[in-house]
Amino acid sequence: MPRRKIGIIGAGLVGLATAIKLKKRLPDAEVFIWEKESQPGQHQSTHNSGVLHAGLYYKPGSLKARLAVQGIREMTAFCQEHGVSHNICGKVVVATDETERSRLDTLVERGTANGLTGMERIGPEQLREMEPMARGIAAVHVPEEGIVDYKQVVEAMKKVIEGQGSALQLSRQAKKLTFTHGGWTFTGENGEDRCDFLINCAGLHSDRVARLAGEQPRTMIIPFRGEYFQLKPEMASRLKKLIYPVPDPSFPFLGVHLTRLIHGGVEAGPNAVLALAREAYKATQFDLRDMSESITFSGLWRFLAKHPKMCLRELGTSLSKSRFCRELQKMTPDVQESDLIDGGAGVRAQAMTPDGTLVQDFDFIERSNALHVINAPSPGATASLAIGQHIVENVCRLCELP
Ligand SMILES: Cc1cc2nc3c(=O)[nH]c(=O)nc-3n(C[C@H](O)[C@H](O)[C@H](O)COP(=O)(O)OP(=O)(O)OC[C@H]3O[C@@H](n4cnc5c(N)ncnc54)[C@H](O)[C@@H]3O)c2cc1C
Repeated sequence: MPRRKIGIIGAGLVGLATAIKLKKRLPDAEVFIWEKESQPGQHQSTHNSGVLHAGLYYKPGSLKARLAVQGIREMTAFCQEHGVSHNICGKVVVATDETERSRLDTLVERGTANGLTGMERIGPEQLREMEPMARGIAAVHVPEEGIVDYKQVVEAMKKVIEGQGSALQLSRQAKKLTFTHGGWTFTGENGEDRCDFLINCAGLHSDRVARLAGEQPRTMIIPFRGEYFQLKPEMASRLKKLIYPVPDPSFPFLGVHLTRLIHGGVEAGPNAVLALAREAYKATQFDLRDMSESITFSGLWRFLAKHPKMCLRELGTSLSKSRFCRELQKMTPDVQESDLIDGGAGVRAQAMTPDGTLVQDFDFIERSNALHVINAPSPGATASLAIGQHIVENVCRLCELP
């Protein structure tokens, strides 16, 4: 086999994991990553809830279901091997009305079909014993879920990549991609690089990078901000596990929940509101290009028309702390507005189709010389190593490698 050169765009968890898996499968290949920031993992990969998702929510048979289940096993093993802080503390998903009770049944069916073990349906009393802050008419305990320090995961992956001899090139933004004489040229402000195969793991900019490479993805990345509060320490110390609501199956978002942080403390959130910029970590951050692309996309207007109630509810939780608190109080009535301290925010890269549908599954564009990750939302961090493996298997198939 000729020595291959493979170029990855984006050093979030998906790009980093892909680089690791590539060198394991193709030790003779030359692998490099272009990352526009001065450090890896500065966007979604370290602006998230820090949860290890076990695969409860996802449609059986979907890529998400398969890669989440495989992904949490691989990620836990990686954390153990590299001394990354993590804790499989378990979570409870709490139904607070009758509609949610039947959705809870569907979740348990999905979890069982996806191969989760140890799940148990519990009633209000058992819920109270297990998680004294939570109240509901029914719940499911999912013992396999946990929490992790994704910043440490990024650092550990960086070290593995360097040890494998691949090149992590920081402060390198791919601005132009051209395919000539059987190879790609990546062009940025600091120079050029050439490779035989391109892998696009650009997260919030994956649709743009695909377009740079000549693709016309049918979906657009719509940025959804997720805002957090921190719980005051006296309240935070009461939480034993993670407490989640029953999600609305029409959306890929899970609803505001209470998450223990791996190094102490508890976060409440995230909500899901349209962001005014793809990297809007502050609510007021605005980017003209990002905004004009979103508002001229027909899918966004169809989405807003289809789901006005949900959009208004989420916007309400962003504009008003008391609205945010009321969402939490549905399952943890003791939490008061005064217990909530302002926290950070993350921005989800969520692919949307022109008819206003949010793409739920992981999604890729595959070519004989390129693979584009078009949608890798939650649980993309948990599943990153499994996504990397999936990408490598497909690269080998596309390149007709044995
Ligand atoms: C609020 C929130 C909460 C979440 N909670 C969880 C959770 O608890 N558990 C979980 O499993 N998942 C969670 N997720 C999802 C998870 O974080 C993502 O699925 C995952 O991080 C995606 O990784 P990525 O590498 O695709 O993207 P990113 O981490 O965004 O990385 C993409 C990289 O590409 C770089 N890039 C972009 N364009 C270019 C260019 N032109 N040239 C060079 N570099 C470029 C960017 O700088 C960036 O570093 C959450 C996400 C958010 C936003």
